[in-house]
Amino acid sequence: MKLITAQHVLLGPAEHALHDGAVLLDGTRIHAVGSRQELDHHLPAEVPREHHPHATLLPGLINMHVHLSFDSGPDPVATLRDQDEDSLLSAMLERAQQTLRAGVTTVRDLGDRDGAALRLRARIADEGLAAPRILAAAAPLTVPHGHCWFLGGVVEHERDIRERVHRTAAQGADLVKVMASGGQLTPDSPPMWQSQFTPHELSLVVEEATRVGLPVAAHAHGSDAIEAAVRAGVTTVEHCTWMGPHGQDRRRHVAERMAEHGIYACAASSRNWRALVDRAGPERARQIHGRLSWMADLGVPLVTGTDAGLPGSVFDDFVGALELYEYLGFTPATILDMATVTSAAALGLGDRIGRIAAGYEADLLVVDGDPRTDGLAVLRHPRRVLTRGNTAVTADGQDG
Ligand SMILES: [Zn+2]
Repeated sequence: MKLITAQHVLLGPAEHALHDGAVLLDGTRIHAVGSRQELDHHLPAEVPREHHPHATLLPGLINMHVHLSFDSGPDPVATLRDQDEDSLLSAMLERAQQTLRAGVTTVRDLGDRDGAALRLRARIADEGLAAPRILAAAAPLTVPHGHCWFLGGVVEHERDIRERVHRTAAQGADLVKVMASGGQLTPDSPPMWQSQFTPHELSLVVEEATRVGLPVAAHAHGSDAIEAAVRAGVTTVEHCTWMGPHGQDRRRHVAERMAEHGIYACAASSRNWRALVDRAGPERARQIHGRLSWMADLGVPLVTGTDAGLPGSVFDDFVGALELYEYLGFTPATILDMATVTSAAALGLGDRIGRIAAGYEADLLVVDGDPRTDGLAVLRHPRRVLTRGNTAVTADGQDG
């Protein structure tokens, strides 16, 4: 057992907080939560105690959209193509650990080279390495010459779709990813606004995934693709950019349906959101990024992801991506809820992670100050990161 106490304990939702609170850990889990005085008083003297008088204890953060297979360099596709399996897994481990040091204790990998993230997860478990919890989709479903075809998930006919979904499940994936529209990364593939699958095919993906017990994440920039994905009943819509062939095409009835059915939107934007503000000016930037406020106002549940691995989208600055929401006027408490409670629910893990409560896994951060009043920037250099009760990071930045 171990007792950690802090000036503030954010239980998640962040507005539910304890002043001068305490969390008692038992192995990988949280055993009890309460006031410092009370827990301290009732515990035998030999139980180790760790007190953080000017700090906040909060649940570990969740990055809902990463690609551990990509290196964030100018041409991640070329780098990946030239990498053998061994060096790929080593590089992926290093990226996963960077993410952990930045306060992220769970990542969802939304597309790798034929299940590499699942093999990484097995290696982490075998060797007992410090790393965030990894949920992974393996190779995303896409069309011939479509977005990210080179990851190995090309499907062409209905039978292909069914087989690929079953293969993904057999690999041990936690979800199915489908490239419902075009994207940015792949030369000579459909434009971002254009659908890659018909509404019927998307329904088939969801139907087969449901059959094998997996949720579906749909990459969708185009409004047609978003609408088809929502109608098919996916769990999360990635990017959700509302693009038409001639610019923004926000469809209120679709967003309302997302709200009604609890379909999550993940912006999947990195700290590079600032570049758009600099390049296009604050007004235009607010128009584009403002889709997030618009969806939130309509009740669409938002989760936090960065597309880490894409050019310039680094693994070690999750907070830089979250600051977009601060810029849009979301309160820090709301943003923390998105990155913990809401994201955990979207993963189907709402009863295990994302909160500080008895029985939950001990994925915890200790940060100086209070992010609710001092801003999200205080999350940038955590004093401590614990993953399943193990200290992964200490104040001097060393792995513990
Ligand atoms: Zn992505």
